Parts: sequence; structure tokens; C-alpha cells
Amino acid sequence: MSQLSPLVGSAYPFPGKPVQLSVQEQIDYKAKIKNLLIEKDAVLVAHYYTDPEIQALAEETGGYVADSLEMARFGRDHKAKTLIIAGVRFMGETAKILTPHKTVLMPELEATCSLDVGCPVDEFSAFCDQHPDRVVVVYANTSAAVKARADWVVTSSIALEIVEHLDSEGKKIIWGPDRHLGSYIERKTKADMIMWQGDCIVHDEFKASALRDMKAVHPDAAVLVHPESPESVVQLADAVGSTSQLIKAAQTLPNKKLIVATDTGIFYKMQQACPDKEMMAAPTAGNGATCRSCAHCPWMAMNGLKSIYNALVDASGHEIDVDPNVAKGALVSLDRMLDFAAEQQLKVQGNA
Ligand code: SF4
Repeated sequence: MSQLSPLVGSAYPFPGKPVQLSVQEQIDYKAKIKNLLIEKDAVLVAHYYTDPEIQALAEETGGYVADSLEMARFGRDHKAKTLIIAGVRFMGETAKILTPHKTVLMPELEATCSLDVGCPVDEFSAFCDQHPDRVVVVYANTSAAVKARADWVVTSSIALEIVEHLDSEGKKIIWGPDRHLGSYIERKTKADMIMWQGDCIVHDEFKASALRDMKAVHPDAAVLVHPESPESVVQLADAVGSTSQLIKAAQTLPNKKLIVATDTGIFYKMQQACPDKEMMAAPTAGNGATCRSCAHCPWMAMNGLKSIYNALVDASGHEIDVDPNVAKGALVSLDRMLDFAAEQQLKVQGNA
């Protein structure tokens, strides 16, 4: 049975909506960014949840669109000296940890994640200290300092295997920070887990009752769900998985209609993968709805053409720096996951 951590960080400082650019401004910024990427020996790496024009620009300029870990690995292996990471802060930190000799820039350093904000290192560390007999496993959506406090970092594509492995060795686990993903893994593995009580403001908003109504209207649609969603939503899924796994499921399921419970930014790559299918966002409305996110992360939405341009023109206020001692500690828990994956010949793909 799970035990609970104290609830931390239930109120988040939400960013304002980014300023919309005119069509002409978008064209102008894109042209300038393309020149600056060459001039500055930089490559644009974007997350699946960023806006479609950012993902398209990354692809057009030889960059990459992926989940958080693949973003960091692409950046590490690319020859460019500078990485522009369009995503949220922990993604920039992971890129810097894996590639300390490169300059890592972010369009918006203030772009964060409710899982990261809701898991401050001091409180999380105190929680871990209360249970010294447990192995600390954290999700990639955490600060570098929390990763350094952990024994293992996991992504949603490999979390099940790692927890199963630890359970088979008789280990008891502290899981943080996403309570829904943790519960999903606990249900699947029956491991002894204590949960930190964080959540993703995008996935936590999906509503099972409204989803049932939507399925009744579209009985031929398959439901794809990211496991950061509540259990009641996961139970209605035809496929549950990380961002990359959901894109794959969209391709392989025979259904022509898909109801998708994750950030709608994923539609850009999903539509590329299966252009003949119709995609619909799972409902965030209904009983108890607050529409804090409406299926699109407000921090991912901070990434815009103008801020990418600004980062390329002047790096100050855009560069990610990770304390070398913290980075060293975080690299140990990241490497543990990567080594485990290599041994098991599993592909590690990321999460949100
Ligand atoms: S979508 Fe959720 S998990 Fe991803 S960055 Fe936004 S708040 Fe964090």
C-alpha cells in the first residue's frame, strides 16, 4: 500500500500567455533564426509539446523534435557547439548534465514544470531522509538537485522495468514526483512504493466522465493516455505510454480516430506519423474542471520564435548552468538508468 508525502507546491505561478505574432513577423523571425543558427553554430532541439511552428523550424533547420531524454542525447551527439533547447527548464538541465562542454540556451529560463516546482529539493530530501531503507527513484521531470539526491532517474518508457528490477531484488522504493505515474507503476509491479504527491497540471486535468461521454459519441475511436493522467482516465485507455510510445500506438492501432490524453503539442508529430487519422484532444472540461491547462502546457507555450531569436542574439538570460557538484550527482543516477537500459537492450525514451 502506498504512503503519502506531504502535499507540496499545490499552487503554481502560472506564466502569462505568449504574445501572438503576425504571419509576417513569423516569416521574418524564422528567416533570422535560420541565419543565426548557422552563424552561431547552434542547433534547435524541441520537445513534442512545443507549438507546431517551433517543431517545424527544428526539423527544417536540421534540429530535432523528441522527448526530454532523446533531446538531450541528440544534443550531446550533434556537432553544434550551442544547443537551443525549446522545452522546459529540467530539459535544459539534463542536456547540460549530459553535455557540460556545450553552451545550452533556452528561449525562456522561466519555463518550468509543475512536477519540478512541486518537488523542491530540501523538502524532497527531508522526505527521503525519513525512509533511509528505501531506494529513491525519480522521474526525469525534476531539477538537477533532486536527480542528484536520487539513486535512479527513470523515464516513463523504462520506469516499469526499473521498478520491477528493484522489486525483484527486494528493494522498497521512494517514488517522486508524479503521483499518478507512480500509482500506475505500483499497480503494474506491486512494488512497495511511497509516493511524493506531485502532478502534471496538464495530465491531471483530464476527466474520465467527460471522456466516457466522448467515447460514446465516437465509439470507433481508440483512446491513447499518458500515465501522468489520473487512474480513472488510464482505465479507459486502449494504449498507455510515454510520448514516443503514444506516437507509435497511433500508428499501429487500426482505428482511424484517436482520442489523445496528453498535451496537444504531440499532434504535430502524431499527424506526421499517421496523416490519414483524425486526432482529438481528450476532454479537460466537465465536473471539477478548472481549465488550468486545457491540454496544453502553459510553460511549453512560453517557447516562441521571438524568444528563440533573442537567445541567439544575446545568450545572457538564456544560458543554463548547473553546479558541477550537482551535475556530477545527477549524472550518477542518470547513468544508472542508461546502463540498465543498455544491459537489458531496452530503448530509453522520455516522458513529458
Ligand atoms: S506538460 Fe506537465 S510534465 Fe510536461 S512540462 Fe508541462 S507541467 Fe511538466
